[in-house]
Amino acid sequence: MDSQLHIYNTLKGDKELFKPITEGQIGMYVCGPTVYSDVHLGNCRTFISFDMIYRYLLHSNYKVRYVRNITDAGHLEASLAGKTRLDQLEPMEIVQKYTVGFHDVMGMFNNHPPSIEPAATGHIIEQIEIVKTILDKGLAYESNGSVYFDVEKFNKEENYGELSGRKIEDLLSGTRDLDGQDEKRSPLDFALWKKASDSHIMRWPSPWSDGFPGWHLECTAMSTKYLGDTFDIHGGGMDLKFPHHECEVAQGKASTGKSPVNYWLHANMLTLNGQKMSKSTGNTILPGELFSGDNDIMDKAYHPTVVRFFMMQAHYRSILDFSSAALTASEKGFTKLMNAMAELESVAGGSDSSFEVKDLTESFYAAMNDDFNTPVLVARLFDAATWINKIKSGEASISNADLELLKKEMKAFVFDVLGIRTLDASGGNELDAAMDIVLELRKNAREQKDWGTSDLIRDRLKDAGITVKDSAEGSTWSSN
Ligand code: AMP
Ligand code: ZN
Repeated sequence: MDSQLHIYNTLKGDKELFKPITEGQIGMYVCGPTVYSDVHLGNCRTFISFDMIYRYLLHSNYKVRYVRNITDAGHLEASLAGKTRLDQLEPMEIVQKYTVGFHDVMGMFNNHPPSIEPAATGHIIEQIEIVKTILDKGLAYESNGSVYFDVEKFNKEENYGELSGRKIEDLLSGTRDLDGQDEKRSPLDFALWKKASDSHIMRWPSPWSDGFPGWHLECTAMSTKYLGDTFDIHGGGMDLKFPHHECEVAQGKASTGKSPVNYWLHANMLTLNGQKMSKSTGNTILPGELFSGDNDIMDKAYHPTVVRFFMMQAHYRSILDFSSAALTASEKGFTKLMNAMAELESVAGGSDSSFEVKDLTESFYAAMNDDFNTPVLVARLFDAATWINKIKSGEASISNADLELLKKEMKAFVFDVLGIRTLDASGGNELDAAMDIVLELRKNAREQKDWGTSDLIRDRLKDAGITVKDSAEGSTWSSN
């Protein structure tokens, strides 16, 4: 295998040969979820994209420290306070509830947990220290108990906008009055520390006021604490590039004098009806609603591993639109690939191969080394599936050694790198098979106008937590 990993680096606007700071080791930080509501499928796509990247780096024999934070303080203080009053809950109870929910969803998608999952509220002291350092360097100022980063002063020596490609003049002309802007010297300045208003429940003492840290600062504090002043990879969704990541670059440079990250990776958005999936617009579907089929958007329930496979069929830097038609097509592809994986266990090897197995398995690496090109990898895996079927039908042959190689690499790429599971492994298969039989019996009853039996089956299934939906095309089911 002679191809080498190339990664698209937002900082350079180009694909680059990947070279870690320390050979064989990688520090990777990914912005985690805000845990004051359920994660939607768009959030999940970003975390699945970086899980795939993490898995491929591990498969490439790197020792990876993967840090992904939990945003449980800072910019969502006001929302937490509002919800708390309505729900009569403690803020940390909300945080706990949605953190547990997030972990459950990540588990269903077969995402590896990160090596470290720091919470912002556990790193207030570190954040205060960075504010002090930036104040000492003269690149921040205190105003009415809050501390702001002085963007224009920073920009005199450095380039604010180097990551996102924005120009400070354009940003200045585009700004309108913002809340609390009177405290700032410039509308571009962002809070490192915010003084808490009386209604704020989550607050910490600091040299400037009882308050809370700025959102951008959380990530700077937690990434550098666990990975060093400069580390290899920082990831997040494309929508975080500006201002969040731009501010992280500025804070890192202001506090240590060094660029904090060598490779900035941005995963693209999941859309629904052509619009970004987003909590604020309500254009979302929750993972649970998708797995149970209990939603008005999709025609039936989809298994988490099928949803993951669907996401893997798109490049992580491409926009992906979510629809029943696209998922159904993926489900067919998934079944084809899983059948081939099962066949691979039973086909017999011989003395020689009628196709180039090594070229095929090397193409798996070539795809992933080209900026984690999973759609090309999946296409090559389908090529392999076609060969497996030909071997089975006697149209092609494979040597024993090549069969071992194909088994090893296909398992590695399907299960370890793409993180796909068989339905057996995820426990869905037997129920699917049993439900096929039950729905078949119910169909027969309906054809004989035996409505009593048909309704009995539907009602008893409902008691058991399984909902049957009837339509012109037939019946589908979903479980709670
Ligand atoms: P948040 O909890 O809002 O900070 O978002 C967590 C992660 O989900 C961030 O990396 C966002 O960039 C990402 N994200 C939010 N909406 C979408 C979407 N529609 N598609 C993909 N990623 C998203
Ligand atoms: Zn972040």
